[in-house]
Amino acid sequence: MLLQKEREELVKYGKMIIQAGLTKGTGGNFSVYNREEGLMAITPSGIPYMIMKPEDIVIMDLKGNIVEGELVPSSEHAMHAMVYEKRSDVNAMVHMHSIFCTTLSALNESLPAVDYLVAFSGDKEVKCAKYATYGTVELAENALEALGNQNAVLLANHGLNAVAGNMMMAFAIAEQIEFCAEVYIRARSAGTPVILRDDEMTRMVKRFANYGQKKEC
Ligand SMILES: [Zn+2]
Repeated sequence: MLLQKEREELVKYGKMIIQAGLTKGTGGNFSVYNREEGLMAITPSGIPYMIMKPEDIVIMDLKGNIVEGELVPSSEHAMHAMVYEKRSDVNAMVHMHSIFCTTLSALNESLPAVDYLVAFSGDKEVKCAKYATYGTVELAENALEALGNQNAVLLANHGLNAVAGNMMMAFAIAEQIEFCAEVYIRARSAGTPVILRDDEMTRMVKRFANYGQKKEC
């Protein structure tokens, strides 16, 4: 099978995403791009992550052609392909329907710097892309435009996309942004959240740009 390593990685992260409470059942989708081969491994449509197997993963090129796989790919495959085409630094993407990111996206609002961990997004806030129907090129374009050069973007009335050079980092970004969204929603329920100062977030964004094992945060 093509992209065996990537297939196994998606199966592993599927379980982790469920266990971390970042999505439910079959909600969301994620992919890994092998830039040398020019091929993307993406989760199939409608298969629960807890029972997904490596052979269920669909291999596609960036033009939307299925290169290998029996199952129907995620309906959002164009949204993934478009990011890999436009961003040469991105090789993994998590799209999920986590509760607090989706709650904030239902308000069509950005996530401000309510916590320094917002810097995981690569900027001082996580923007919210304009609404479009799921699975459409319009949604893919809106998401890409609002993402810009950042690592995360909210999708209005829908969820979150997190992107990175590898799956481990894309998952970490998704998890941290969901945490920040939860803090923000809860803080707003309790009062008026204090947003971190611009110069502080400038420092944090710089620090998180080199995030890795040697970092403490
Ligand atoms: Zn979705």
